[in-house]
Amino acid sequence: MASFTVLEHPLGSALLTRLRDRSTGPAEYRALTRRLGLLLVAEATRDLETETEMVRTPLEPFDGSRLVRGLVAIPVLRAGLGLLDAVVDLYPDAVVGYLGMERDEVTHEPRDYYAKLPPLAGRRALVVDPMLATGGSGSAAVRYVKEAGADDIVFLCIVAAPEGLERMRRDHPDVPIVAAALDRQLNDQAYILPGLGDFGDRLYGTER
Ligand code: URA
Repeated sequence: MASFTVLEHPLGSALLTRLRDRSTGPAEYRALTRRLGLLLVAEATRDLETETEMVRTPLEPFDGSRLVRGLVAIPVLRAGLGLLDAVVDLYPDAVVGYLGMERDEVTHEPRDYYAKLPPLAGRRALVVDPMLATGGSGSAAVRYVKEAGADDIVFLCIVAAPEGLERMRRDHPDVPIVAAALDRQLNDQAYILPGLGDFGDRLYGTER
């Protein structure tokens, strides 16, 4: 069973509370998402492989370390874009792939409508999608990334619902999940409770 990690950090909890607050507008929302994303990305890459790198401090030689694996950030459109800056801020050498998922009108199953991925083999793929609700699009996104050649995937979200977590663990028991919170449940519209509303709409100010 893949690991599920809930970020435990007082700053993370405070930032998430501001995101939940309905009075937070898009400009602040984007800034908060980026800051919370930095903590989540650090957590999601805690186990990255390193190798020894010897440097000389002004005083003596020192056996330090450097990262071995490259990183691929894969935001799931559109809400995942809110977390992209956090990945490239922490890992400026990361390459970026984009994956657009939408619900098929007829089958109601998620399907990809856009994909542009860099080579994935040998890199840590960070699939980022802020709201793990039913897990349908998250699971389909991870499947797509696996079929494209990724062998080291971490799924990063801000809020997970128990339903989405269960689906991901069933479909992808090999993929660790990192979240800032595990919320209570979905409502009958598949929104997370207590949640923070429609993430993409709040990020881009497209709420009606
Ligand atoms: N997507 C969102 O943006 N919010 C939810 O609560 C569920 C899915």
